[in-house]
Amino acid sequence: MTLTPDRTAAVPLPADLLPRDGRFGSGPAKVRVEAVRALAEHAVDLLGTSHRQPPVKNLVGRVIEGLTAFFTPPDGYRPAIGNGGSSLFWDLAVCSLIDRRSSHGVFGEFSAKFAAAARRAPHLDEPLVGEAPFGRVALPPVDPSADAYAWAHNETSTGAIAPVTRPTGIGDALTLVDGTSAAGGVVVDLAGVDAYYFAPQKSLGSEGGLWIAWLSPAAVERTERIAAAGRWIPDVLSLKLALDNTAKNQTLNTPAIATLFLLAEQLDWFNANGGQAFAAGRSAESARRLYAWADAHPLATPFVAAEHRSPVVGTIDFDESVDAKWLAAALRANGIVDTEPYRSLGRNQLRIGMYPTVDPDDVSALTRCIDHLLGGR
Ligand SMILES: *Cc1c(COP(=O)(O)O)cnc(C)c1O
Repeated sequence: MTLTPDRTAAVPLPADLLPRDGRFGSGPAKVRVEAVRALAEHAVDLLGTSHRQPPVKNLVGRVIEGLTAFFTPPDGYRPAIGNGGSSLFWDLAVCSLIDRRSSHGVFGEFSAKFAAAARRAPHLDEPLVGEAPFGRVALPPVDPSADAYAWAHNETSTGAIAPVTRPTGIGDALTLVDGTSAAGGVVVDLAGVDAYYFAPQKSLGSEGGLWIAWLSPAAVERTERIAAAGRWIPDVLSLKLALDNTAKNQTLNTPAIATLFLLAEQLDWFNANGGQAFAAGRSAESARRLYAWADAHPLATPFVAAEHRSPVVGTIDFDESVDAKWLAAALRANGIVDTEPYRSLGRNQLRIGMYPTVDPDDVSALTRCIDHLLGGR
């Protein structure tokens, strides 16, 4: 018997089962209601004003202070902020951080995209790639010809999490780690990475459009050397220009002020409540509940093996007797949105964003809603 009902998706769920907030997207993801209210109440004087004048520059300064308090970077690490999101950072790294050859760990759609960007660059040698089937983790192969090692901290497309430590035997090569969905929801020690880059629309509870990177002294030195060597680098892909602007609390071109404001609110919320331990603790608690439910359920199985399971993005496979597409649609019809799996993964799956903004009690409520839709089976 297949639960692929021609019954419509509109199975009403009892109100007392519903989560208080139905946003479970993996990116964009839930933005806290309190932050949106603060935007409406306190940002009216900022929105629509010049990013070259003190009020918006002070907001950028507030973001940088919040990032510094939250990530506690080692001495000498510098932040850089620019427009274009994490996708832009891949091309920026291709222009501004990789000398001749990169080595990539590819284990999902996002880590694959960075490897593809490096492969297309006419000024770089063919990248090295270590690949794992989706749902597992691959670290970049170590090779003397590589001067940059790249992988994702959390593969948002699959829900697999990788370690952030410098691989042994890489000499003075740089490590470039995509922290886009992890940053904020998973504790990270920046000492293990030369460029930790991310965007604000996932664990950081804001909107898209920006990229942010923490850069080690070695990464700053590399980018300055490459810029000085005369390689052609478009301005928006110049890490040196981004660093220079960020040092003045500015961005190269106009930023979205609302994105910066919501990010500052989220960082203040994190920092006021205990920083990384608090934020990651919330995601870890949500994940504990989701995976415990799936492990115990006769029709559900976590897609990722226990040692690589992400605390921020949970992927749950369903038995073939359940149509997960119908399940996601039925949840959506009840205001529980964005539980669909990553588009190209092609699995009978739900993907649940469990970023720190998501209340662990809402994750529990979600599992009860799924149980209800599955008819208590
Ligand atoms: C979402 C995501 C990206 C892309 O971020 P954009 O800001 O949309 O470019 C890159 N890498 C990972 C791991 C992501 O989760």
